[in-house]
Amino acid sequence: MLKIINRTAITMCLLAGIAHAEVPDGYWGIEQSQPLLDATMRVKLTPDLSHLSGAEFQALEELLAAGRVMNTLYEDQKHRGAAASKETLLELHQTSGETVETQNLLDIYYLSKGPIATTLDNVRGPILPAEAEQPGKNVYPFGLGRTEIDAFMAANPESVAEIKGLRTAVRRASAENLAADLAKLDAHPAVDVLHDNLRARLQAQQADDSAFYAVPYALAYAEELAEVRSHLIAASRFIENESPDFAAYLQNRARDLLSGDYESGDASWVSGDFANLNIQIGSYETYDDALLGAKAFFSASVLARDAKKSAALVEAMAGLQAIEDSLPYEHHKTVRSRIPVGVYEVIADFGQARGANTATILPNEAEHARKYGRTIRSNILSNPVLFENSKKLYDAAVDADFRDHLTSGGKFNRTLWHEVGHYLGVSVTADGQELSVALGDRTDLLQELKSDLVSLFSAPALRASGYHDDASLRSQYADGVRRTLQLVQPRPEQPYQNMQLMQFNFFMELGLLEVDGESALLIINYDRYHEVVTEMLEQVLQIQYSGDYEVAGEFISRWNYWDEKLHGELARKMRDSGIYRRTIVRYHALGH
Ligand SMILES: [Zn+2]
Repeated sequence: MLKIINRTAITMCLLAGIAHAEVPDGYWGIEQSQPLLDATMRVKLTPDLSHLSGAEFQALEELLAAGRVMNTLYEDQKHRGAAASKETLLELHQTSGETVETQNLLDIYYLSKGPIATTLDNVRGPILPAEAEQPGKNVYPFGLGRTEIDAFMAANPESVAEIKGLRTAVRRASAENLAADLAKLDAHPAVDVLHDNLRARLQAQQADDSAFYAVPYALAYAEELAEVRSHLIAASRFIENESPDFAAYLQNRARDLLSGDYESGDASWVSGDFANLNIQIGSYETYDDALLGAKAFFSASVLARDAKKSAALVEAMAGLQAIEDSLPYEHHKTVRSRIPVGVYEVIADFGQARGANTATILPNEAEHARKYGRTIRSNILSNPVLFENSKKLYDAAVDADFRDHLTSGGKFNRTLWHEVGHYLGVSVTADGQELSVALGDRTDLLQELKSDLVSLFSAPALRASGYHDDASLRSQYADGVRRTLQLVQPRPEQPYQNMQLMQFNFFMELGLLEVDGESALLIINYDRYHEVVTEMLEQVLQIQYSGDYEVAGEFISRWNYWDEKLHGELARKMRDSGIYRRTIVRYHALGH
């Protein structure tokens, strides 16, 4: 269940005479923080956990403790000054007598998961005196740019796999860094044992400030991951009799964090038969790496399964092979018949996963997905208030005739089938490379674009099979349009927003969408829908299969453009509709 604290309540607090004070120079003042928070919806997740057993409650405490560590780790991965910034803000809040200004700064830190916030105009910058954001965040050397690392990799091709590793931190090969890593390896013999030639590699590395090397996260974050590991093992002990598969998964994942190889945990996670509790924990998604698009960042989601909704979903998944076989490309694969899929209530999210996430599919690594499958989780966030906010945005952009086409069911289905879309289509390039290796920082954008398009592409087949009726098909289509609407021009490093904008432009140019001459609002040509979606999907699948980085770049720049007269004007209408632009999600289970 969600609780919404409305804006009126916040305004009342302000009027009730809570202390105000100027913040020091370099901090966001009330004139910067208040507009952002006024446009922020506050949601608290309080799921019903009455069906959990006593042992599950004991395990839950340990899982939440593991999640808290992951949250801190994530903030550190994003910005090397995160912990210090948070401490500074807490101290300022104390010493200033807990003013609105300092509470605002703490709220924005929470919302932004660190000291760098995004303004309503989509500009990123620090909310207090802190270093500027780096494209490689804190998993590459500070100040490293694309030119320098590309030149190094070109001159040292043998280092590419290591530098681009999914779970490695890149360092400058300074004498200090090498000595510190070797000392850390001495302090963590288990990491030493599980990483065959790491010691030899570090010892052989010449100290040279213009060279780079990488160490596994298992070493870079050894202390913190040891703590996570001990919580996972403690949790597994509580439930080993009641839910042996879940306990085995926790044991495996605890070891994965030491080895950096997620295979055992992924296999037992995807295929295991769990009771009420589940946890997604580790580092999977690479969205935060704006330098090479290679590094996974830490997250955890502690979940409670909704048995009834999950069973309904499994049924709807039948017939997936037929959808794969109908995709507009030639290299169809065999989709496994039993796809682990579940509907969950979120108990608490940590790190990269924190926020109004609706669904995920993991693991991403093609090898693990091929051998074990991937698990799809859909969160119950189809809350009426969250939906109302998206509906308001949609209503502001489309012509009146189309407004009642969008329902929360359409949003749920589009999102769910987006996740299924990750399961289908190209998983390796023509010459057998993982997409992320071939397509680098363009991988995420193309993957998300493909999944959006597969979701829309499969809708008519689901109508034919009886999953959809006419109204629910139309609603999913309407949500496909809502998804493409942008409130501001995306920044280059935002894969989701950019691929949404690309869809909007493709839909406009090929006549799925048009602007009504009178209302200057959008009209949806449903009769063009399937053909246009198929056309765009075909192009994306071709690029992914070719693995051609340059062609991918041309495709992206062809469709990714912003015209103030069209996009800017629609964006202004949507912004003026009084919608919330951000969501702060808090969790009852964390005592928020
Ligand atoms: Zn996705």
